[in-house]
Amino acid sequence: MRHLLLFVISLFFIGQSFAQTTYILCGKLLDTESGNLKSKQTILVEGNKIVDVKDGFIMPKNGNLIDLRDKVVMPGLIDMHVHIEDQFNPNTRLEGYILNESDIALNAVGYAEKTLLAGFTTVRDLGGTGVNISVRNAINNSKIKGPRIFTAGQFLASTGGHGDPTNGGNRKLIGNPGPKEGVVNSVEDGKKAVRQRYKNGADLIKITATGGVLSVAKSGDNPQFTIEEIKSITETAKDYGMHVAAHAHGDLGMQRAILGGVKTIEHGTYMSDETMNLMIKHNAYLVPTITAGKEVEAKAKVKGFYPEIVVPKALAVGPQIQGTFSRAYKKGVPIAFGTDAGVFKHGENGKEFKFMVEAGMPAIEALQSATITNAKLLKMENELGQIKKGFLADIIAVDEDPIKNIATMEKVVFVMKEGVVYKK
Ligand SMILES: [Zn+2]
Repeated sequence: MRHLLLFVISLFFIGQSFAQTTYILCGKLLDTESGNLKSKQTILVEGNKIVDVKDGFIMPKNGNLIDLRDKVVMPGLIDMHVHIEDQFNPNTRLEGYILNESDIALNAVGYAEKTLLAGFTTVRDLGGTGVNISVRNAINNSKIKGPRIFTAGQFLASTGGHGDPTNGGNRKLIGNPGPKEGVVNSVEDGKKAVRQRYKNGADLIKITATGGVLSVAKSGDNPQFTIEEIKSITETAKDYGMHVAAHAHGDLGMQRAILGGVKTIEHGTYMSDETMNLMIKHNAYLVPTITAGKEVEAKAKVKGFYPEIVVPKALAVGPQIQGTFSRAYKKGVPIAFGTDAGVFKHGENGKEFKFMVEAGMPAIEALQSATITNAKLLKMENELGQIKKGFLADIIAVDEDPIKNIATMEKVVFVMKEGVVYKK
């Protein structure tokens, strides 16, 4: 009996030491639900969760103190469009042939850490070789530092399409890729490709509904799937609880994607007013990726940075993206923050905020898009995107008031993910 009592008492004390509370004093705290900045708040964190948020500064009697009284605090940011495996450079084509999966994985370790330290505690990876699935798992198991990843694994494309992994390759080496490799040319292929992604461990599906800028192919905007093929992909994905994201620059391919049941349109470059209305009607989200547009426009002017066939596409598409975003926002198209990091340097994702504000979106709305909206799209709205009791303790801070200076989002000074501090 005495032993049992001692055992219970020791369990109580072990429990106490695990339940150490961290008090985070916030000069200003962004309430993403109301869109208000609240002054003088204290967040209480235990383990990986926020256990309370209180008015005023509360000093811990015994517990950890994090003093952010001169900072603006907000939930960890969510980027809906990154490629964690790679970072575009003049050797990217060659690397496709010479890098092994282990090389790709080691590169991704650095990119993932940069992303996290920039304040992005969650990302949606829209495709690579599939190594991103292992990267996600390694982060979830705390083997490496990085954001929480929801990944598409590999893209789905039609033969010669934007996401065909063998475009422009030596014919002796490229073989005849099919649904297993992500190349889809029929309704049946669509089902098989989605199920293969599920089997591989993907969380969602990415298709390339139109041509793209950086693929070694002529068109940057033609439609590349039939609507029946897209429907077979979205309907099969639904069976596995996965949503579908569609890369799209051209208007016709975009319309097919929306009518085919796609949830997010990536880039949306040549979107007509008619298509914007279709997005609103179907509650489809535009992921703007303005930063990528600016980057490809700039790098197309650097001789030799891109293959020659890419340059005219980059010069045509790049400058359009911000203007399209501006029109779409003003028309009321739902907007999900996303950058296409990997087309530019990982860790510079925060630049997107400035471009969104430049295009007419108020800073608060841009921040809501990167938090509460994206959490909802990822079906994590009860755990991410807000600083609220019961939510995961993904918390970041910046020096200045982002409403007065949105560029402060490019210099995140404090990062906590699930209660662990990564930057201070
Ligand atoms: Zn992309």
